[in-house]
Amino acid sequence: MLSVEEALEQILSRVHRLGTERTDLLACLGRVLAEPSVAAGDIPPWPNSSMDGYAVRSSDTRGATPERPTELSVVGTIPAGLVAARPLERDEAFRIFTGAPLPEGADSVVPQEEVETLGERIRVRRFVQPGVFVRPLGEDIRAGETALEPGKVIGPAEVGLLATLGQSRPLVFRRPRVAILSTGDEVVDLGTPLGPGKIRNSNTYALMAQVLEAGAEPVNVGLAPDRREAIEEQLRWGLAADALISSAGVSVGEYDFVREALTRLGAEQHLWKVSMRPGKPITFGSVGDRPIFGLPGNPVSAMVTFELFVRPALRKMAGHSALHRPMLRARALAPIPNPGGRRGYLRVRLTADRQGYGARLTGDQGSAIVTSMVAADGLAVVPPDSTIPPGGEVTVILLKPLPPHDGA
Ligand code: AMP
Ligand code: MG
Repeated sequence: MLSVEEALEQILSRVHRLGTERTDLLACLGRVLAEPSVAAGDIPPWPNSSMDGYAVRSSDTRGATPERPTELSVVGTIPAGLVAARPLERDEAFRIFTGAPLPEGADSVVPQEEVETLGERIRVRRFVQPGVFVRPLGEDIRAGETALEPGKVIGPAEVGLLATLGQSRPLVFRRPRVAILSTGDEVVDLGTPLGPGKIRNSNTYALMAQVLEAGAEPVNVGLAPDRREAIEEQLRWGLAADALISSAGVSVGEYDFVREALTRLGAEQHLWKVSMRPGKPITFGSVGDRPIFGLPGNPVSAMVTFELFVRPALRKMAGHSALHRPMLRARALAPIPNPGGRRGYLRVRLTADRQGYGARLTGDQGSAIVTSMVAADGLAVVPPDSTIPPGGEVTVILLKPLPPHDGA
């Protein structure tokens, strides 16, 4: 039996980053930048006011006190979006608004609350330090500076920065298109009545959601009955995508045709017994440079093997360097048993308290119990044949945002 690490290493060594494309700025969210983002000019491009007030020369206010204020004559107004018609001269002020460029000759801004207005003149009652309430040229980014390095994951702040730099179509790595096929004579799709002995196809939908959440693009290639030709036909469609996932029919039962169909399509494949629970054997292979994952049919096993093996592979294809979910150490709030000789990936709910996080099993760990996935914040990694006692520490792979502290 392979360890999870060995299986993952083999998968990642055979999976490669996809090519690049230019795309609309908002469509870059969650994707990986493929070029350095270099500022063509300074941001901001000129010194500007951070207050509504008056642009002045600091030197004109030297010696100003509440008793002996300095008087300046207001010679014009600079709203945001306009530039002063002329430089500021001695003993003058410009009315200025937030974001407006400082006029030449001015070096500071007095907030409007701090001056007394007398018609076309203002009185300033204290010394105004040079530079106050002025945002200097290039304070955010200097011309020629690399604002974002390639490999950066684009979040909302990066979208804002790219917009600031005027880069409307950044170069990013392609999102893998991932074909998903479910197989099984007993499986019926949504919208079709369930007959006797039939169950709903949940794997297609859960896997498509996982693909989407991993930052890739799911393509539903449907449902195939347990017949080699039908599976082969649908897998052929799936091979148009960048990666392929099928669920069920990968064991060695009499109705398990996925491997045979893949062989006929020329796929190089490995059937692995991975030392983990849940998770029956998984198949990994490839046609050309397209990875193919044959996941188990049980819904929880399919989701957990996706998390451990498929998600990191898809993230590598999309250009990410952080391939794995965050993990944390939690304390068992009740015993977390893992009988049997395989490493356990057990569904746990987390609660926050003064000492950190506590973990508790979500209930029965059967691999067909989908509600236990719904309840789970993460997967506790428990060594074979062992039990984490109450108060004992366990590593938890986080599947969801951390629950908040209760304020205690
Ligand atoms: P198999 O890997 O074909 O032996 O299937 C294992 C278990 O997963 C069986 O109980 C199947 O009924 C169930 N199963 C297979 N495919 C799906 C699916 N698409 N949605 C929900 N359950 C499934
Ligand atoms: Mg089956």
